[in-house]
Amino acid sequence: MTQPLRVLVVGAGIGGLTTASALARIGAHVDVIDDKPEISVAGVGFGLRINGLRAVRDIGLLEKCLEIGHPAPAIDNYDADGNLLSTMSYGSQDDGLPGCVTMSRMAFLEMAAQHALDNGCTFRLGTTVARLTQDDAKASVTFRSGDQGEYDLVLGFDGLHSQIRRDHFGEKYAPRPVGGVAWRAGLPNRRRIMQPIISQGYGGKIMLTPLSEDQMYMVLTLAEEGRPRYEAANMAQIMHDRAVALTGGSEFLADALEDVRHAENVAYTPYSTVWVPYPWFRGRVMIMGDAAHTMTPYLGSGAAMSIEDGVVLAQELAKDESLLDAQLNVMKRRLPRVRAVHERSIESMLEEFDSVTPEAYRARIEHLRHDEPIANEYANRLLRMPY
Ligand SMILES: Cc1cc2nc3c(=O)[nH]c(=O)nc-3n(C[C@H](O)[C@H](O)[C@H](O)COP(=O)(O)OP(=O)(O)OC[C@H]3O[C@@H](n4cnc5c(N)ncnc54)[C@H](O)[C@@H]3O)c2cc1C
Repeated sequence: MTQPLRVLVVGAGIGGLTTASALARIGAHVDVIDDKPEISVAGVGFGLRINGLRAVRDIGLLEKCLEIGHPAPAIDNYDADGNLLSTMSYGSQDDGLPGCVTMSRMAFLEMAAQHALDNGCTFRLGTTVARLTQDDAKASVTFRSGDQGEYDLVLGFDGLHSQIRRDHFGEKYAPRPVGGVAWRAGLPNRRRIMQPIISQGYGGKIMLTPLSEDQMYMVLTLAEEGRPRYEAANMAQIMHDRAVALTGGSEFLADALEDVRHAENVAYTPYSTVWVPYPWFRGRVMIMGDAAHTMTPYLGSGAAMSIEDGVVLAQELAKDESLLDAQLNVMKRRLPRVRAVHERSIESMLEEFDSVTPEAYRARIEHLRHDEPIANEYANRLLRMPY
């Protein structure tokens, strides 16, 4: 390989930005592009569990994450009427790391972009790849803006609807809807909740996650087929109505549900998954993060897996081996681990949606009381495995 390695990262999301830093820290010259004119994201917050926290520590971002984030030791599970069913720990402190830290998505992206700049990466927003050819020596890229660049490696971190995946791996791996949707909104934290709470409803759930003493976000997940287009002006009311239906009109979260009606930033996301089974590269073009393995958020780990991808890639590229050897080593380390988390994220979702009839709902409540904490402990151990 030529030194320093020249890398183009396509997509300035969570995975692309953190990978850019990971690669710059091993001496690579990294250009990052995104087709959006500015860094932005749907959804208010997210959580990094032990897997994500270890990975951000590896690229020198842990302290800043702890500064902008809120440590969340566990999740409390309630039924729709507010009876506490179980408390699921995010796992014991490992190496001084909290089990989970929740934070604002925008704050994370801004911090990760600044970190990549500080590490010497260059950014170009509002452009994408118009043409990409490759030979034994290089990948040649023509950008939409007309200018060109030559790279040793092009990384598609361009998410669920990845253009790099479509162009270089084919339509075969297009996103598959999995029958669920998420409604998300940022809300005031009137209850001063300090750790996430879940209220199980009929065929879905409401999750409230604190970002600070004053702010939290609500995620409503439920089975919903089809992909209707909703008017932006009606989203808050629709999310409110869905939440009320889910709780059967219970008073338990009535204050938060009322706040939803006035939320300004409601995001509606039909769940789809992607799984690219074969090595995530075609020559010098590689896909990672959601572009290669979009999962459901049921293990709170899609972002964490994207960050891990980049850390592992940097570790393998830092060895004095060929690009192909590095790519194959990455696949050996990533495929089994990501596959296990991906599968579990889908199973978990399907278990939750199977609670629409009163009988199934009662069974779900018993499951949450007795079995879910054990399933959660399995997830903790899975995520804690070395990568
Ligand atoms: C409701 C919900 C809750 C979630 N909660 C969590 C959580 O708590 N913890 C967790 O770890 N994960 C969570 N996730 C998953 C997480 O958000 C994703 O796995 C993560 O964002 C993937 O990062 P990425 O960088 O691979 O892709 P993305 O974040 O999707 O970034 C892709 C980037 O590529 C850009 N792009 C797209 N197309 C092009 C193109 N053609 N050219 C150039 N740029 C392009 C986009 O603008 C974007 O900036 C959640 C997901 C959902 C839907």
